[in-house]
Amino acid sequence: MSESRFSVLLRQFQGVMEVVDSGGEAAKKLFELQRTVFSLEEENAALIEENAALKQTVADYKQFDVDRESYVHHQLPSGAWVVVVKADAVGQADTMQDGMYLCERCFSKRQRSILQPIEKRSSAAYLKCHECGSEVMKDNPHKSALDFC
Ligand SMILES: [Zn+2]
Repeated sequence: MSESRFSVLLRQFQGVMEVVDSGGEAAKKLFELQRTVFSLEEENAALIEENAALKQTVADYKQFDVDRESYVHHQLPSGAWVVVVKADAVGQADTMQDGMYLCERCFSKRQRSILQPIEKRSSAAYLKCHECGSEVMKDNPHKSALDFC
């Protein structure tokens, strides 16, 4: 890692400090300046870290937008909408398998969350997103009842 401009500045101040009378007003001012440079260096390091994290987020978003092409909206028999992988992308798009349903809500926020079956006191089958807590009715119990008639 190369020496930061702050480090160079600090070294220069230390050089000046050595030639200035240690008890004089100039030394006090230089000491204050040195403290300011220290805090600026900390601030700079935090900004560099934050910038790297933001670059990663942007890269993840761009990748998600590319991957988005592999998915399609799908309406379940209950009428609820989910996201599924396109038939030609099964096994490719982020190891998505046929029959996996993704949460619409999370997908719109660039997150892939696979819906999992849950038990409810209902004749209908439900799926739940463990990321956002959404619950989706999978089948249509009324329609199923009619099919038996
Ligand atoms: Zn969700």
